[in-house]
Amino acid sequence: VSKHRLILTVTSLMIAAVILACSDSQSPDGANDGPGDELKVVATTTQIGDFARNVGGDRIDLTVLLSPNQDAHDFELEPSQLRAVVEADLILRNGLGLDSFLDSALQSSEATVATLSDGIDALQGAHEGNDEQVDPHVWLSVANARRMVENLREALIAEDTARAEEYRQNAAAYLQALDALDASIRGEVEAVPAGCRKLVTNHDVLGYYASAYGFEVVGSIIPSTTAAAQASAAAIREIVTLVEAENVPAIFAEASINPALVEQVGREAGVTVIDDLYGDSLGPEGSDGATYIEMMRSNTRKIVAALRDC
Ligand SMILES: [Zn+2]
Repeated sequence: VSKHRLILTVTSLMIAAVILACSDSQSPDGANDGPGDELKVVATTTQIGDFARNVGGDRIDLTVLLSPNQDAHDFELEPSQLRAVVEADLILRNGLGLDSFLDSALQSSEATVATLSDGIDALQGAHEGNDEQVDPHVWLSVANARRMVENLREALIAEDTARAEEYRQNAAAYLQALDALDASIRGEVEAVPAGCRKLVTNHDVLGYYASAYGFEVVGSIIPSTTAAAQASAAAIREIVTLVEAENVPAIFAEASINPALVEQVGREAGVTVIDDLYGDSLGPEGSDGATYIEMMRSNTRKIVAALRDC
């Protein structure tokens, strides 16, 4: 791993040198200075990419680093992505340790970095690559997504004031759609009786969803600080016992994470496994989680259907 990182660092220094050598004729701050000159924006996660598409429209040249259904946990930048980071005007990141894979590349970039989770009250938690003991999955509450979109809007306006009005209008329309989404989730979860609102997940991704929409996370299968393959037999037995004791009818897993463990727990506890929630990333185009709004709707539909008759 360290060899890989060293190569990445060397590559990034080389790219930085090339770009500095070529950029004499351009404005030093990389700002947009002519019409038709698109702001170069990098988004780390697929959901931030979706927010950026909605607010920036076709006025930004957008690169999204993570791919649909890609696990954010062991992500590393490819050389072409490193180049996009180095050349970017604006980088939109989640923060709270989720996208710390960006840190070394940022040393070679003069881009403005906007951390979209700024101002959100983080829940306790842990995540791979995260030493802060906070749960990074803030976007799974629509109220938090709203805040991220507002932060994104302000970042775009600060970087590209000429198009401020357009960004404001796009953001207003999208925020309205988020408000409708939030209301529809609240309406749908009413179908789940209070005693059935218990979530067991493979990776501890639904904390903000649970606290926003009245669920309780009673357990998660993969300890958040270890890799998926490393849950011990004792840990699995413990979660099977918990599932039986809490009497939950179904357990949940993300489409982006190998379902072997959650399927084993499901078999041993004799409960249904819903293995296609969207958590760390959106689904591919054409799936029921291709956009943030679709992802939240389909997660809610699956959770409600699995728990309503507990
Ligand atoms: Zn995660």
